[in-house]
Amino acid sequence: MNYSIAIDGPAGAGKSTVAKEIAKRLGFIYIDTGAMYRAFGLYYLNNGLSLDDEELVNSKVSLVKIEMKNIDGENKIYLNNEDISLDIRTEEASRGASKVSVYTHVREKMVELQQEMALKNSVVMDGRDIGTVVLPNANLKVYLTASVEERAKRRYLEQTKKGMKVNLEDIKKDIEERDYRDMNRSVSPLKQASDAILIDTTNMEIEEVINKILNLCKDRGIEL
Ligand code: C5P
Repeated sequence: MNYSIAIDGPAGAGKSTVAKEIAKRLGFIYIDTGAMYRAFGLYYLNNGLSLDDEELVNSKVSLVKIEMKNIDGENKIYLNNEDISLDIRTEEASRGASKVSVYTHVREKMVELQQEMALKNSVVMDGRDIGTVVLPNANLKVYLTASVEERAKRRYLEQTKKGMKVNLEDIKKDIEERDYRDMNRSVSPLKQASDAILIDTTNMEIEEVINKILNLCKDRGIEL
């Protein structure tokens, strides 16, 4: 039997760190759906195509092939056979993902791919619409959030650690803009599923969040 765990929430709430660790501890596959939208947006950015023109975006959807592979225990994402796992982590790619993800055509293609993966494996999937649209029958749904100040601070620390030159106020503004776009788009807006468990991580350590979710899994008999 395959199990599925859905983790949704706004940018910088710690979804990917938590989802990756839960998947590792349960022996499930981690699927980062944000990476898929980032890869999708990158196709248009790399080809100098406007992400503001829905018709243009739609006309190229069939040219975009996205694959997720696990190579030596690391999750990699491929855009038309090219490994772009690092390229998708820039602020430009974040904005691109948030723009391209408002289009129905794009979402349909991504959701189909995500559902296929969840049919074949036990998964922990994180994103914005996993509990509401992609996996409405998930065995466990979690909505992870934190204050915008805390989320901006975490992203700032993460990026300065990587040696990137970033500004805390710019990051906060960017997160607020993305939250607004994600929560107010007409297709699959970010919202808590009615049966999702809310976890506010503002004052929590990562390990605390992981343990809380693992306990929820235990209560529901979710195991490999
Ligand atoms: O999670 P991450 O920050 O990598 O996602 C990048 C963007 O992709 C989000 O801001 C959101 O606009 C979009 N996204 C989405 N639906 C998902 C995952 C991500 O619309 N399931």
